[in-house]
Amino acid sequence: MMSKTDGQKLEEKLCYTIKNIGMERPEAIEKAEEFCEGYKKFLNHSKIERECVKYTIGLAEDAGYVPFERGRKYVPGDKVYYNNRGKNLILTTFGQNPLDQGVHFNIAHIDSPRLDLKPNPLYEKDELAYFKTHYYGGIRKYQWGTTPLALHGRVMLKDGSAVDLHIGEEKDDPVFVVTDLLPHLAAKQNQRTLAEGLRGEELNILVGSTPIQDDKVKAAFKLKVLSILNERFGMTEEDFLRAELTLVPAQKAVDVGLDRSMVGAYGQDDKVCAYTALMAELSAEKPAFTTVTLLTDKEETGSQGATGMASDMLLHYMEDLVECEGERVRDVLRKSMCLSADVNAAYDPTFADVFEAQNSCYLNKGPVLTKYTGARGKSGSNDASAETMYRVIRCLEDEDVMWQIGELGKVDAGGGGTIAMFIADMNVDTVDLGVPVLAMHAPFEITSKLDVYYTYRAFRAFNR
Ligand code: MN
Ligand code: MN
Repeated sequence: MMSKTDGQKLEEKLCYTIKNIGMERPEAIEKAEEFCEGYKKFLNHSKIERECVKYTIGLAEDAGYVPFERGRKYVPGDKVYYNNRGKNLILTTFGQNPLDQGVHFNIAHIDSPRLDLKPNPLYEKDELAYFKTHYYGGIRKYQWGTTPLALHGRVMLKDGSAVDLHIGEEKDDPVFVVTDLLPHLAAKQNQRTLAEGLRGEELNILVGSTPIQDDKVKAAFKLKVLSILNERFGMTEEDFLRAELTLVPAQKAVDVGLDRSMVGAYGQDDKVCAYTALMAELSAEKPAFTTVTLLTDKEETGSQGATGMASDMLLHYMEDLVECEGERVRDVLRKSMCLSADVNAAYDPTFADVFEAQNSCYLNKGPVLTKYTGARGKSGSNDASAETMYRVIRCLEDEDVMWQIGELGKVDAGGGGTIAMFIADMNVDTVDLGVPVLAMHAPFEITSKLDVYYTYRAFRAFNR
């Protein structure tokens, strides 16, 4: 082997390079594949936040978690959970340090962009029955045409009973669809901008095409759909007014690529961070700092509402938690740290022009530390301090976790936000850490298995 020149040695010593995990640590590939089997299962059970919370409680109880009780005395290693309205879940493992040393927060969101039904959704037109929708979160509307969709959500019936719908997921289930034009007749539609390819009021869900056999009936095709819903769920049309129903891609999580190195699925933003944070939380034994792992809702619509991060839900939990040790919540928060666990846009060679290559994250280079997000000069962003970056990077280095740095695309190419600012506003040092994603917010998003596994390792390192 040729010995290195002085210049090469200097370069190695002084320059920062981010390495590909597949090249540096091929032995991790098998572990990553194994880890992602549980991840794919989690995705298939977590298409909406309610289902995610329900599935997660099952996993948590199997790992020894019990519901949190106010005023109880807990010891290091105790594990508790708190369920907020069936849509958020907070999990805690009590640490060895007293709470006045601060806690380690790890917060991911479990809501994903989708097509919600309007409050009064059902209609028929020209002998076909449809649901009207109002999209939830940031979608590229044209991507949702001709994609098989499943119906999920909850209806509260007049008598106060709750009915959960879940149609389009089982092997013989029917699915639903938004139609689009054939190319032969799309000359005029093709003149629209991509943003208008399918318009909001065109995202109508085809739900039926047979009538009730009675020519005295005003809307026989709509009535047929209602009669099926009534038979199966006891619903009438009025019950849509007491419902949260949504259409999500029916596709299950699958491997992508001949080498099966990637996961393709709906809702990986941000269930990929939810799962990796959850696995790190469940496996924490007696961490130094008490952990507070929160799976939150409403991130995709701006975090407002009683189940979103802009609410006092987490603050109130923290008040109850610190009360157990007779502490004041402000003393605990100011010493705490948070990983805001959310995804970032992976560099896409096909669309390289929206990325700044030197500050983008890449598939297979590990979890991405995103110092700030925001748009138009970091507006609406938490910008992590040098000290916070130091502390988090040190956690990763101490545990030999490969990671990378990245920001969301070129300056002024667009932008976005995460929940980081809400927790930072509670006087907690916070930084974003998560998985790079290709085709983020599409009905089918792509992640790398090595990144998923290394993100879990990063959260484990933080929870030590
Ligand atoms: Mn998102
Ligand atoms: Mn996200």
